[in-house]
Amino acid sequence: MIDLRESALTALKSCGVEAAALTGTLSVRTPLTGAELLSVRQTEDVGAVVSAAHAAYQEWRTVPAPVRGALVKRLGQLIGEHKDDLATLVTLEAGKIRSEALGEVQEMIDVCDFAVGLSRQLYGRTMPSERPGHRLMETWHPLGVVGVISAFNFPVAVWSWNTAIALVCGDAVVWKPSEKTPLTALACTALVDRAIAELHAPKDLHRTVIGGREVGEALVDSPLVPLVSATGSTRMGREVGPRVAARFGRTLLELGGNNAAVVTPSADLDLATRAIVFAAAGTAGQRCTTLRRLIVHTSVADELLGKLTTAYGKLPIGSPLDAGTLVGPLIDEAAYENMTAALDAARKDGGEVLVGGGRREIDGDGYYAEPSIVRMPSQTDIVRTETFAPILYVLTYETLDEAIALHNDVPQGLSSGIFTRDQQEAERFLAADGSDCGIVNVNIGTSGAEIGGAFGGEKETGGGRESGSDAWRAYMRRATNTVNASGQLLLAQDVSFL
Ligand code: NAD
Repeated sequence: MIDLRESALTALKSCGVEAAALTGTLSVRTPLTGAELLSVRQTEDVGAVVSAAHAAYQEWRTVPAPVRGALVKRLGQLIGEHKDDLATLVTLEAGKIRSEALGEVQEMIDVCDFAVGLSRQLYGRTMPSERPGHRLMETWHPLGVVGVISAFNFPVAVWSWNTAIALVCGDAVVWKPSEKTPLTALACTALVDRAIAELHAPKDLHRTVIGGREVGEALVDSPLVPLVSATGSTRMGREVGPRVAARFGRTLLELGGNNAAVVTPSADLDLATRAIVFAAAGTAGQRCTTLRRLIVHTSVADELLGKLTTAYGKLPIGSPLDAGTLVGPLIDEAAYENMTAALDAARKDGGEVLVGGGRREIDGDGYYAEPSIVRMPSQTDIVRTETFAPILYVLTYETLDEAIALHNDVPQGLSSGIFTRDQQEAERFLAADGSDCGIVNVNIGTSGAEIGGAFGGEKETGGGRESGSDAWRAYMRRATNTVNASGQLLLAQDVSFL
């Protein structure tokens, strides 16, 4: 039997985490058994950390962007060299199965690659000036210290989306990881510190602050943090958004989802079944993009539900350390209680639990939940709520208009999918009057986005966009420049003065 604590210590040491960081008052538990793994030191003076990062930013902003890219390139290499260690820590702290833990680390490597390319493509536009002999253009400049607040369920990928991009944009980063997953954060911090030292970048360019909500609040309220990129629950975003806005800071909010897929009569039901099981039961239902609602045409509902309940019945639930396990534990007891309460509420609303919902006693105080499918008579309040556990609510529809209306009638707007072989239906779902989400897929489940696209969602999901495409713009400030080389003073709009 593997000693989980030893395994964590070995991975941390290999990444370069110093022993001093591993003595403190914040207890770190593993969801695999519920036992304490280690305890870590909490950050006392967030203000001092932010000030140091701000000073580093003042130096870093004048380093040419392609040179900044070299730092991120090295970071990507180091993450690649420590892929196994980091994946081990993700499994131990967040409970992910090996393949998903490795996938999360791969996402970090991918976004570093992306950011290195981006470091030569921080394009501004030039526009024709209405005045002869004038040039009108925009320039993108570094912004300052970016505060990154992250959630437990993607303990490292979300950090890397923000950090790789922020660093090439010329910003400094102060990271507040989830208090449930500080070990992966310490490991990443050691790697970024090493890259910074090797490339002689300013030493405080990246700092990590450890602790709970109060540590996050100190970052949120700091006037030296012009951008707070916060990932977590809608409750958290509701608090963070107005606080940052009150000091005219910017936020990039990546909050809860309540993602749905529509299954039409022409869908390939075998492909849909595989996609749905991964999206709904994978990561034990603990992704922001987890599939939580299935909207199925009445003509295929029974057949699809038959396939799904059979697949759910065979899902290997167990320790993520065991080869073959597909569903690991929930993060903690509270998560399982939330799941049970949601299932009770669904039953009260007339829902029929077709499969799952129980707890498997696998190891100690680990909360291993059986992924559940619940057929609902209508989209009641509990269906419209994000419960961070593997519950898939099933609703049926007759017309595509009805399906789209049901799909959009929730407060969240993160990810969505349609399963169809009818191009008109697919195009309708992608159109302006189709899905209202930030991520809209065809014949693919709601989870498992690639880093090249901008990631994020609408409504209570917060509106932020991170990672690929032009998401980098949120990390920079834009200056519009008019340069007069005409030798005369010409005022815009033909205004005469003096
Ligand atoms: P959470 O909201 O409990 O915590 C997230 C982070 O916010 C933690 O680091 C926490 O310490 C911090 N925090 C909490 N309250 C704060 C406050 N008032 N001020 C400053 N910081 C505060 O979320 P969680 O349970 O760790 O993660 C699960 C949630 O995150 C789900 O709702 C999930 O959908 C969401 N999530 C969203 C995305 C996305 O990209 N949209 C990605 C991952 C997770």
